[in-house]
Amino acid sequence: MKYVSTRGKAPELLFEEAMLSGLATDGGLYVPAEVPAFERREIAMLQGKTYEDVAFAVMRPFVGDTFEEDEFRAAIKAAYAGFGHVSRAPLKQVGDGVWLLELFHGPTLAFKDFAMQLIGQMFQSVLQRRGESVTIVGATSGDTGSAAIEAFRGLDNVDVCILYPHGKVSEVQRRQMTTPTEANVRTFAVEGTFDDCQRHLKDMFADRAFREEMRLAAVNSINWARVMAQVVYYFTSAMALGAPDRKVSFCVPTGNFGDIYAGEIARRMGLPIGRLVIATNQNDILHRALASGEYRIGEVRPSISPSMDIQVSSNFERLLFDAYGRDADAVRSLMDELRSGNGFRITDAALGGIGEGFVSGRVSEEETMSRIGAVHDASGQLVCPHTAVGLEVADRLAEPRVPMIALATADPAKFPDAVERATGICPPLPIRMADLYERPERVTQVENNLAELCRAIREGRAA
Ligand SMILES: *Cc1c(COP(=O)(O)O)cnc(C)c1O
Repeated sequence: MKYVSTRGKAPELLFEEAMLSGLATDGGLYVPAEVPAFERREIAMLQGKTYEDVAFAVMRPFVGDTFEEDEFRAAIKAAYAGFGHVSRAPLKQVGDGVWLLELFHGPTLAFKDFAMQLIGQMFQSVLQRRGESVTIVGATSGDTGSAAIEAFRGLDNVDVCILYPHGKVSEVQRRQMTTPTEANVRTFAVEGTFDDCQRHLKDMFADRAFREEMRLAAVNSINWARVMAQVVYYFTSAMALGAPDRKVSFCVPTGNFGDIYAGEIARRMGLPIGRLVIATNQNDILHRALASGEYRIGEVRPSISPSMDIQVSSNFERLLFDAYGRDADAVRSLMDELRSGNGFRITDAALGGIGEGFVSGRVSEEETMSRIGAVHDASGQLVCPHTAVGLEVADRLAEPRVPMIALATADPAKFPDAVERATGICPPLPIRMADLYERPERVTQVENNLAELCRAIREGRAA
């Protein structure tokens, strides 16, 4: 399987290289040259299999020859062994025709563990075989950072540096990042927004000398391997509700568009999906783009669903690439326009294509709060604010007779303040994390400035 850049000026890579480098050298994102399609009967054969077996079958075509069969099976097994639920991604009914897909049973209590734990295993295999080491840098609005740290802490061949916007992540999120004691883990609190962090990260990768000196690798949601790992739970959950014989829709609380794009890949692989519903909070660039064709960057407004507080939605570029008929020149000029101005206009043809598979909704802070309360009243279930954003939009956009699977992206205990305000109940942390508030924190504060950041990353290296 070959991977091509959405901007067309970077070399084609095999899975191994695409995973290790993350971002393409032309600033684009890697996508498979061709998405493998499953026959209906191949999907039917996956029914009743374990999460790990489905994961192997779904991801195998994407990794190509990077791993021996046994090696890949072992990586998958190790990745999900630490999850706190046997089914890995349990499905629960929470309303008429609405199911909650719980993606928060991993070590950091958010869906990002699904991809990150697997990436940790895959990186380790590949780097050991090659006798190489890398510096992983990631920008996080909260959950990616802790998931990356959990996946790589203590590994020999990897240094991890995580940038997060100072004061803009929840206390649980922050503590999950700043309390690990391993020398290969470092966190940087940047005086800026998540979009600033993400921009610095992109610029670091564009700086070839720095990139090579540090052997930078990215595991942000722009890394293809993350999208790939997230495709799996679309399959397991759809099959639990009757796919391939029954069509289902998904509603996804969306920020960087990585999670929902995995759903788009599942659909192209042959999974019968009705709608993919994009749910945004008040940072609604995607909702505005779908409604008007204008992809315009606004101010980031901090919300109670901070993991979605972004304006530039990186993975959307992958969808644009397809919507523009895989015309890399067109995508490159859109991205140039974005860089020099504040956005671009999507052509009617491309917008029409996107509208065939996607719908969207925007949810205010008040609506999020009242949805958390309403779900609790109706089903006894506590949900995190991101999940509530999804459930609110799911309620607006569900179609009769098509089951709607709403992705529950984080454990409510990661966002206890909002949940307690909405329901009067403070969601407890799982026992394995109960001492999180007592552990000492370690973090480097840095200015919102690329040169400063590069210096801090270079200087603090763990040997
Ligand atoms: C990252 C995250 C999201 C957004 O996912 P994207 O792939 O960036 O769209 C939603 N909810 C939670 C809890 C997250 O951590």
